[in-house]
Amino acid sequence: WHLARALPFTRDGKIVKWFGTNTDIDEQKQMQRQKDDFLGIASHELKTPVTSIKAYAQVLGAMLEKEGEQRKAEMVSRMDAQVNRLTNLIGDLLDVTKINSGRLQFNKVWFDINKVVRETMVDLQHTTHRHKLVEDFTETGKIYTDKDRIGQVITNLITNAIKYSPQADRIIVSTRREKQEIVVCVQDFGIGIADNKQDKVFEQFYRVSGSKQHTFPGLGLGLYISSEIIKREGGRMWVNSIEGKGSTFCFSLPVTTLN
Ligand code: ADP
Repeated sequence: WHLARALPFTRDGKIVKWFGTNTDIDEQKQMQRQKDDFLGIASHELKTPVTSIKAYAQVLGAMLEKEGEQRKAEMVSRMDAQVNRLTNLIGDLLDVTKINSGRLQFNKVWFDINKVVRETMVDLQHTTHRHKLVEDFTETGKIYTDKDRIGQVITNLITNAIKYSPQADRIIVSTRREKQEIVVCVQDFGIGIADNKQDKVFEQFYRVSGSKQHTFPGLGLGLYISSEIIKREGGRMWVNSIEGKGSTFCFSLPVTTLN
């Protein structure tokens, strides 16, 4: 009787569908867990030495500046920039393990979304000489959600727009209010994404393949993390893109009734 209940039989005793044995599924689950555990432990262990290298690089840079050793100070500042890249990669790996194990924490506050978008744009404008980051805002009002996490999403979208539009000279960031939602979009005039790849870019570790691998470094985690954050906050993330012309990535967030 137990077996009959466990298997998808019809009334006359035929098996409707057969998905695989329980052992297969258990093994798969266990492997996934082991992979997540490994990723979690490895990224956690990497974090400590990298934080310490960063601290030393900063002290060393300041010392060299003081001693008038400009060239050496410049080299240390490049080291520092690479350490920042490493820190961000490790941060992404940690976020993925948190998302996959349901441990991503949210610290909600009231904030003005336009202000956060503007601050992020000012920060990121320093990272590109080629692109002008253009504001196209309308009044959106305040929302109640995790400000740092939303900043992380906006940073990710703008960083991608810069990275994947090496020949373009501007990126347009817009905000608008649509009924009970706030919508933020980042438009670039870069390489774009083929129609059949557009949904896949939100999957973990997915990167549009091709000869571009070396031109555009990355792990393929940013959009996965961003879309999971937005989903957890009750919003959606999507992309409109034309290959060779550019992409517009947008996300929406619900305006809470408290607003
Ligand atoms: P990463 O940039 O580290 O590869 P992401 O998760 O941010 O990871 O993006 C996944 C993939 O989606 C990228 O590898 C790239 O192929 C594609 N992609 C993301 N943003 C853009 C963009 N603005 N224009 C074109 N392709 C993009």
